[in-house]
Amino acid sequence: MSAVRSLTAAVFAAALFAQPPYDLVIRGGRVMDPETGLDAVRTIGISNGAIARVTTGDLDGARTIDASGLVVAPGFIDLHSHGQDAENYRLKALDGVTTALELEIGVLDVPGFIAARRGRALVNFGATVSHPAARLTTLGHPMPPGAIVPASGPATTSPVTDEQFERIAALLEKGLDAGALGIGMGLAYTPGATRLEVIRLFRIAAAHHVPIYVHVRSAGRIEPGSSIESIGEVIGAAAVTGAPLHIVHINSIGLRDSAECLRLVEGARVRGLDVTTEAYPYGAGMTAINSGVFDPGWPEKLGITYADLQLVETGERLTKERFDVLHASPESKLVLLYLNPDEIVDLVIEHPLTMIASDGHVENGKGHPRGAGTYARILARYVRDRHTLSLMAALRKMSLMPAQRLEGAAPLARRKGRAQEGADADLVVFDPRTVQDQATYEKGPLPSTGFRYVLVAGTPVVADGNIVDGVFPGRPVTTR
Ligand SMILES: [Zn+2]
Repeated sequence: MSAVRSLTAAVFAAALFAQPPYDLVIRGGRVMDPETGLDAVRTIGISNGAIARVTTGDLDGARTIDASGLVVAPGFIDLHSHGQDAENYRLKALDGVTTALELEIGVLDVPGFIAARRGRALVNFGATVSHPAARLTTLGHPMPPGAIVPASGPATTSPVTDEQFERIAALLEKGLDAGALGIGMGLAYTPGATRLEVIRLFRIAAAHHVPIYVHVRSAGRIEPGSSIESIGEVIGAAAVTGAPLHIVHINSIGLRDSAECLRLVEGARVRGLDVTTEAYPYGAGMTAINSGVFDPGWPEKLGITYADLQLVETGERLTKERFDVLHASPESKLVLLYLNPDEIVDLVIEHPLTMIASDGHVENGKGHPRGAGTYARILARYVRDRHTLSLMAALRKMSLMPAQRLEGAAPLARRKGRAQEGADADLVVFDPRTVQDQATYEKGPLPSTGFRYVLVAGTPVVADGNIVDGVFPGRPVTTR
């Protein structure tokens, strides 16, 4: 065989048997990266779950997605996702979320939570260790499985002894040692926690260099117990302990004083404190009717009446009589609370310090629309319809800012929230002209539409707008 012929044969064999250099190529999309400001047509090459190449040239992949005319952006990171099961992960994926974290209330058994989802999750997942659950367990009334927030009772309303606090602290330490992303606190649900208990909890977080994620003690204008006082309590605790602080859903805590509450966060940050916040883009909240939120005096405090409550299960608006029956029942029914007019929601969502987080929880197809529509709603209502957020600003609030909140404690979050070489290939591919939330209070948590592809660690979990069955690329997000 001549040299030329054997070379030709070798080239032919290489062409026949060589693997394409990339597992997946996303070709010709408008790639947007909020950290570097990149907003240009690029082709992305993905290998081993990560973005290996971002280029103006062409790339060869085992599989190719044509993204021309579509936006390619980092997948959304939901810091406040109570729904941590297959039903909720599907709704999250269809809403562009690639990482869904239970940080507000958290979980008690962190290793158990991770083990139950490893290899079985559509999207990335993670949790804080739960102060409410640790407190209730220590006081002999553990939260029932499936409960999102504790029912009001002696274990939520009584102060704890020093000996009891030590036991709570030991449970929290155990969760933090297992990689919990911080400590989750719901002070409105455990009003028996004294100011000193709160400061001691912040000290534990500070010693572990992890944030406190907190639903603050109270809301409204009536003193004591105003929104302003409640935000002041946790900012003060952060200042004296050094613990990073994330205040959840400042919209439903701030109410009419939301703008002032955001100024408190802004002031704390200007003075060097690591304080962040988030909101969901809806006027109504949702919680359990037998929780501490409905302790006596709630209508005056929140500035709403019985008719502003709606039972999620049936859609019925409540009266005083009906409320009294449901409130006294040991059964934990969820209710919508119509708290905020649009002006307040819009002001909070459009504020540059506010991250987007859903506070979502859907069960058997029922629940607040935020569990299904939060992220598409930001892109539809604020970017496309109202023009009050640029597309890049919205993407930043949904991807980069939550990644930055996490990464001080969880270094692996530095690879998330970015459409850059070296980042995890958690990506959304969508049409900004058509992306739309479909969930409403009336119709319930219907899935969003318009996310053409959603990738978790390079694996499509949504393809051509539909869930891909039988794939479980979601990985745990921990401090390890
Ligand atoms: Zn909450």
